[in-house]
Amino acid sequence: MKIEKYSFGVGDRFAHQGEAQLSAIMKAKEQGYNIVPVWNKSNREHQIIHSTPESTRAEADQAVSRLGWTDRYYVDADHINLSTVDNFLDHSDFFTLDVADYIGQPAGQSDIDSFLAEYGRYTGELKIPGLDETFQVSRSALEKITRKFLYAIQEASKIYEHIKSKKGPESFVAEVSMDEVKEAQTPAEMFFILLMISHFNIPAQTIAPKFTGRFNKGVDYVGNNSQFRKEFEQDLLVIDYAVKEFNLPENLKLSVHSGSDKFSIYPVMGELIKKYDKGIHVKTAGTTWLEEVIGLALAGGDALKMAKEIYAGAFTRQDELCGPYATVIDIDPYKLPEPSAVEKWDGEKFANALRHIPGHPEYNPNFRQLIHVGYKVAAELGTAYTDLLKKHHEIVGEQVTTNIYDRHISRLFGV
Ligand SMILES: [Zn+2]
Repeated sequence: MKIEKYSFGVGDRFAHQGEAQLSAIMKAKEQGYNIVPVWNKSNREHQIIHSTPESTRAEADQAVSRLGWTDRYYVDADHINLSTVDNFLDHSDFFTLDVADYIGQPAGQSDIDSFLAEYGRYTGELKIPGLDETFQVSRSALEKITRKFLYAIQEASKIYEHIKSKKGPESFVAEVSMDEVKEAQTPAEMFFILLMISHFNIPAQTIAPKFTGRFNKGVDYVGNNSQFRKEFEQDLLVIDYAVKEFNLPENLKLSVHSGSDKFSIYPVMGELIKKYDKGIHVKTAGTTWLEEVIGLALAGGDALKMAKEIYAGAFTRQDELCGPYATVIDIDPYKLPEPSAVEKWDGEKFANALRHIPGHPEYNPNFRQLIHVGYKVAAELGTAYTDLLKKHHEIVGEQVTTNIYDRHISRLFGV
């Protein structure tokens, strides 16, 4: 199973927006952009919502059959490891092997020694075609990289082999992710990580590195755009070289996590993948849930009341809700409106504060991020919440489609 050049990961916490999400992908296709949808959901999300991987598969299948989508689509077991993968085996055909937690743990000494003996020839000057800069890899630098990453890739191999033994080798796409770490991987690290991936025969088709800067949930990239450009270009060229040098799948491409709402760097990514004729996978998730809340606010009446109730609930439970996401949100509590003030807002004002339109005078990224992590509050409301989604599916769906197409796909692909 070989994934297409352009793929877009959509997440759907409550599994009601599959058709609205697919509509955005279909709109892109009408404009000549062939993108395949990947429905992704992590174990953490499933636990908070109390949903199962089976429901993600059912949602994807249903959206595809109802809208008559005839191209490929995938269901991603997002950020899994050996302890969480089993529940996803029957329902996923894309597996994100998350090795971030294993980075920095050293492999066994004999494994390190034999890796160094086999690949010591790569020490010296590392020249990546297309990059002006050259990199000096001393023996001790290679040893350091091996100590830092070999164990993590061994773990990726174990997860991959486990999935393969259950599903067969050609029945799924494998991604290796290491985005949830503090520091971006250097070009030399990336080169040797790819060598390790090849060494363990993991036919990875996407790889998610860490980039410098903040990839906060639901808001724009915070960082230095030219540094991002540099790293993204380096990663593209290192992958291109490694694919040939190490016999990796020729369609191996970058995967950008927490990819929703990174409006300021989409044109950079779009320009560079065009320049080098490369594919890309962009993973988004919570941005759809926020559109549900916007849709409910606009629907008015009980739906607006519930949107306000969700905010008020999140406001009083900030510590609990923000805790698990501490490294991927930046909320200034002094800029959060008091629920009593929000109580007086009409639907339009609520939607404007929440909707991600950079520069809009009423847009409030603090409000937006708090609701982003507040999906647990809606999950606890159960069918009271999802019944309103059903009742207002038209206006909610419109928000979801517009958000993915106009604000994401258009910016990324320059449609
Ligand atoms: Zn990730």
